Amino acid sequence: MTDPLMVDPAVPAAPIESLLTAILLQQGGADAMRAMAEREAEFPNRLAAQLTGIALDPAARGYADEFLDAYWADEARQQQTLSSAGTGREVIIGSGFHAAVYAAIRVRSGHPRPLVLERGPRAGGTFAMTARPTFYLNSRNRAGNAGLAGDQTAALNHLPGAPIQASNVGMTEYQTNTEMAFVIRLALAQFADVVTNATVRAATPDSSGVQIEVAGRGPLPAGRLIDARGAGDPISQGFADGVSILTFGQFMARMGGMWPLRGVRRAAVVGSGDSAKCAVESLLGIAPQPLMAAAALDSVERIDWYAADLPGTCGAWQQQIRGRYQAIGRYLRPDRLLTVLGRRARPVALPGAGLIDGRSYDLVVVCTGNQETDIDGLGLGACYDYRTPDETIVAREHTDLPAFRVGPHARLPFTRQEQADGIADIPQNAVAMFRTAPKTAALAATLPALTDD
Ligand SMILES: Cc1cc2nc3c(=O)[nH]c(=O)nc-3n(C[C@H](O)[C@H](O)[C@H](O)COP(=O)(O)OP(=O)(O)OC[C@H]3O[C@@H](n4cnc5c(N)ncnc54)[C@H](O)[C@@H]3O)c2cc1C
Repeated sequence: MTDPLMVDPAVPAAPIESLLTAILLQQGGADAMRAMAEREAEFPNRLAAQLTGIALDPAARGYADEFLDAYWADEARQQQTLSSAGTGREVIIGSGFHAAVYAAIRVRSGHPRPLVLERGPRAGGTFAMTARPTFYLNSRNRAGNAGLAGDQTAALNHLPGAPIQASNVGMTEYQTNTEMAFVIRLALAQFADVVTNATVRAATPDSSGVQIEVAGRGPLPAGRLIDARGAGDPISQGFADGVSILTFGQFMARMGGMWPLRGVRRAAVVGSGDSAKCAVESLLGIAPQPLMAAAALDSVERIDWYAADLPGTCGAWQQQIRGRYQAIGRYLRPDRLLTVLGRRARPVALPGAGLIDGRSYDLVVVCTGNQETDIDGLGLGACYDYRTPDETIVAREHTDLPAFRVGPHARLPFTRQEQADGIADIPQNAVAMFRTAPKTAALAATLPALTDD
């Protein structure tokens, strides 16, 4: 294959090729890959066996993560990648799960590698918010093909078209954020050209496509825009001071660092969704083990959880809350350190403390949801439903731009079938990968080629 934008899924693309070469030169780095050679016949191709070997060896995986960060941040490479943009090329905003799904299926459908623009320093989206594991997924780790939550033989964390799946990265029932992030990042490395620290500010139509404005860079032309911005930014970021009042992302960044709970005796969590539950798990010590943290040195003595719609007793918790979060319920006995206060709260930052209803806390984590980040020209109001030939709505298409919203960012309502299948009974399923991945994959498989593809 001579066109650098075209990829054979079984042959390592440039970033993966460089990674494999670098790992082979590492002392001991090749051991895991050699171990996999014995079982190569069980994989669809050699590349999948090699990448599984890297994923299963903590040292090799850590090296690979650092390698990819450096590869994507290299300024000369970024310039070269950006200069390859044009109306024959698709650009994806964001580098999360949906960017990876779109890129993988698009390339496997015979189209060129899309260009991915990520505003942050690290590609991989929500699951890559920390380089070290800080929270557990809530969808079970199962092998197999994509499928729905009730189907015990289907994989829920399946990334359609990826070189390896989350189920190749470990065997624990609930995997960590960084295990999923690794799968996303490998898919991006194989099927997209990624530029980090590239914030998209605006998009405007031009004669044969879109003109994209990237902060601090020249205008970028594209034939089509895939808007995979994710769920947005925390509503709480306006009043979180980043010291004693933290957003979920800020708290996870702290948990990914050294001595994350030093000086935290009294803590509060505000909000009742999955992020709040993960924050409470971190404070209870039932999240992934931080790098440097020991109960002998730092233990939280009191956690007040301001959540209007969560059960406050262990018994009620066991009955009402789904399996993944059952462990939290054990701490809801009167003599334990966790108390649910069934009301909403708005903390105030004092010097060195967060204040809620007259109580002061060493740390308050506010997990009250997200709001869309603005990009001029890409508002939701100017969109209509994009349907695949079977009439399923899989994305939102802009009226005056060749641009499509995908993933949670598209805010697709539950379909009748999803209601009939019981998927809609759990509101959190609205953003679950098993629900949204097939939709983004269907978009990638059905959009026509750009004219000069
Ligand atoms: C704590 C938590 C646990 C979860 N657990 C699960 C789970 O177990 N199972 C499950 O199925 N789902 C889970 N989810 C939901 C899942 O994380 C999301 O649905 C999924 O990550 C969405 O992927 P995405 O690619 O659309 O967005 P994201 O992964 O959020 O990626 C979007 C990316 O876009 C970038 N971006 C935003 N604006 C711009 C801009 N202007 N320019 C450039 N880049 C931009 C962001 O920086 C980000 O990297 C969980 C979510 C959270 C918060």
